[in-house]
Amino acid sequence: MAETMLTAARGIAEGIVSLRRAIHAEPELGNHTPLTRDKVRAALADLPLEWREGPSTTGLVGVLKGGAGPGRRVLLRGDMDALPMAEETGLPFASTIPGAMHACGHDAHTAMLAGAARLLARRADSLAGEVLLMFQPGEEGWHGAKLMLDDGLLGGPGSAYGALPDAAFALHIMPQSPHGLVAGRAGALLAAADRFEITITGRGGHASMPHHGLDPVPIAAEIVMALQALVTRQFDAHDPVVATVALIEAGTTHNVIPDGARIAGTLRSLSPQARAKLHAALARLAVGIAEAHGAAARCEVIPGFPVTICDPRAVALGEAVAGDLFGPQQFHRLATPIMGAEDFAYVLEAVPGAMFFLGVAGEGADLAACCPIHSPRMLVDEGALPHGAALLAGLAERFLAGGFAA
Ligand SMILES: [Zn+2]
Ligand SMILES: [Zn+2]
Repeated sequence: MAETMLTAARGIAEGIVSLRRAIHAEPELGNHTPLTRDKVRAALADLPLEWREGPSTTGLVGVLKGGAGPGRRVLLRGDMDALPMAEETGLPFASTIPGAMHACGHDAHTAMLAGAARLLARRADSLAGEVLLMFQPGEEGWHGAKLMLDDGLLGGPGSAYGALPDAAFALHIMPQSPHGLVAGRAGALLAAADRFEITITGRGGHASMPHHGLDPVPIAAEIVMALQALVTRQFDAHDPVVATVALIEAGTTHNVIPDGARIAGTLRSLSPQARAKLHAALARLAVGIAEAHGAAARCEVIPGFPVTICDPRAVALGEAVAGDLFGPQQFHRLATPIMGAEDFAYVLEAVPGAMFFLGVAGEGADLAACCPIHSPRMLVDEGALPHGAALLAGLAERFLAGGFAA
């Protein structure tokens, strides 16, 4: 049966590719992606789906009801938004929107999810329960998944749509991974990503007479260096964090001490405990160092996505499905998490499930030469898209048939 899912996916490859190219040519940013939403609706107009939409985003959930009676609910998610950057691929279907590009593969994710919807709709008579097809905008830092959850589109307390699903799955393409290779891991898969801003307030003056002012520059430098020691001395090496200062700003010229300084950067962590500890420790450090020098500092942490945590049972199910579809060699267990972040994390906080990576490097490609996601020259081998559609559909089918028992 699993073998025929891949065959069936290859049979609808043309539709998957043409949807992907149409979305790729007209990328949209943030939580408002109406053209992409309309393309999805049009591509799936002939399927018996019930659609849910909410006030906060252009995200939509298509519900496919199985014909074999009531059962579990499984959610499959694809993201729809692009990045604010100019495309340099030279593809015939390259972006026609200046300053916007699908450089993270969300065009492919949406097309693969639409393909999975079609594959599952064909088998709806034999499915018990429901499949929720979550087409989500606003992944690139806009919290689109959280907004859709808060709108009640996935169900949950206060929602008009009943309980949350019993399981949730998503894919992300990997352009530097071999074509068709599926990768995942139980536990933390991706990091929590938070932004921080530290503002130091001193007192400016003549650069030759620093004792008449309160120079914020050495204070900023001390905070940057102390942050390195904080990471290595106060955090468990087996529950690591990353703290990167990516911006330092102070002064206007060479002979004036500025009034203030600004430091900004990113914090990454792999557990809720380390995340909370890092936020508190950073603020303590910045404020304490500034105070020690008689100045003041304000530290603001702007929360980003939480840790993406995969349920071991969901990862085992994915390994079994990928093995059946593509062969046991085609599943790779990642030894370590990746310090990138994903807003599917919000869904996995509420629903047990997993995200998997799907290799989309061209067959026989030099992997070291493939451009990563977020590169203006990132390429997706479209031959791998039916693999993604089959994998998503296979995950839903297998879960509805037997739950997490792989
Ligand atoms: Zn991205
Ligand atoms: Zn992405």
